[in-house]
Amino acid sequence: MRYVIDPPPTPAIPVRGGGLFPVRRVYCIGRNYAAHAVEMGGDPNREPPFFFQKNPDDLDPSGQFPYPRRSNNVHHEVELLVALARGGEDVPVEGALACVWGYAVAIDMTRRDLQDEAKKLQRPWEIAKAFARSAPVGELVPAAAIGHPSRGAITLAVDGALRQSGDLAQMIWKVPEIVATLSRYFTLAPGDVVLTGTPAGVGPVQRGQVMEAAIEGVGAIRVAVV
Ligand code: MN
Repeated sequence: MRYVIDPPPTPAIPVRGGGLFPVRRVYCIGRNYAAHAVEMGGDPNREPPFFFQKNPDDLDPSGQFPYPRRSNNVHHEVELLVALARGGEDVPVEGALACVWGYAVAIDMTRRDLQDEAKKLQRPWEIAKAFARSAPVGELVPAAAIGHPSRGAITLAVDGALRQSGDLAQMIWKVPEIVATLSRYFTLAPGDVVLTGTPAGVGPVQRGQVMEAAIEGVGAIRVAVV
């Protein structure tokens, strides 16, 4: 059968050293660092993880973040992105890292004003999270080259001033647990990526500012807010 319109392009993340990683779905975990859970009014203990999604074409490797219309409070959340080459249902924790192809630095940009309103009205978060170009992302680096980082600094600075500073070791739910838990509710597949939560220090950005995000052992990105 022929497509009746031209099929849209496949969203993809550039890979360090060449090539593209095609993206099927983008899953995100909320409140996965204790200090950030507290700053968002949550409980820092091991509550079951909760998830939301962004759209694959929200991932943006361009180095520019266009400030969205109809928001006045847009926050940065630096996060470790995990890209899956394998999936399945009920993946065991011990088998989860074997599904991971690689890692990247990403920023879960959030329209905090619209998210606060959605929380108050008990509405879903898509309007606050899954907007165009809401996930600036750096090059994907293969686990074959860097292993599976479970500790190391994760930071974000705005115009040179450090805003977020944490360590991957502070994750409440670790990468294998996140993948295993997701696979109990969703059938994971090659091309799925997961944003694994942000450390404390989230805050607003303005047009004209520059965000610099880095994860030790993974990489660094520089994103201009335009
Ligand atoms: Mn986030």
